[in-house]
Amino acid sequence: MNIYSYMPRPRQHRHIHASFGYNYFKPCSTCLQDTGEVILKMEEMESIRLKDYLGMNQQEAADHMKVSQPTFHRILIEARKKIGCALVCGKAIRIHGGTYKMEMNQLRKFRCIDCHHIWEVMHGTGRPQDCPMCKSMDIHRVKDENDYARTGCVRHGKHQ
Ligand SMILES: [Zn+2]
Repeated sequence: MNIYSYMPRPRQHRHIHASFGYNYFKPCSTCLQDTGEVILKMEEMESIRLKDYLGMNQQEAADHMKVSQPTFHRILIEARKKIGCALVCGKAIRIHGGTYKMEMNQLRKFRCIDCHHIWEVMHGTGRPQDCPMCKSMDIHRVKDENDYARTGCVRHGKHQ
């Protein structure tokens, strides 16, 4: 046994594709006493979005977040436990922190077969109909190995 056996394994960043426009839920009974809050980590919120909101299966969702399926399962269970606790006990939910890597402005790259023009399209905007340069409809998606590393700005977050 060497000393490295005792070191905690570094936590891998979970990839998150959505930024949430809000980060606080509170029961609508302001005159009741404060019942406290639960902290839902960003990756836990993302697991709910992928699995429960978008209806992905666990493997798809795990691939999306670039974690193993058991890790995804663990994140999801934790998220549901916290949300359940908030609903049952009337606690507020704060969405904050975690170990994640935010994918901003994720882009897809397309290439025109006719004029070789290459351009990028935001995710979620649908496949372009034709080349913006020559209007040819003979276009194809360019698969980029380092899609995630090279496009957009990547924000790191690591706080508890
Ligand atoms: Zn073209």
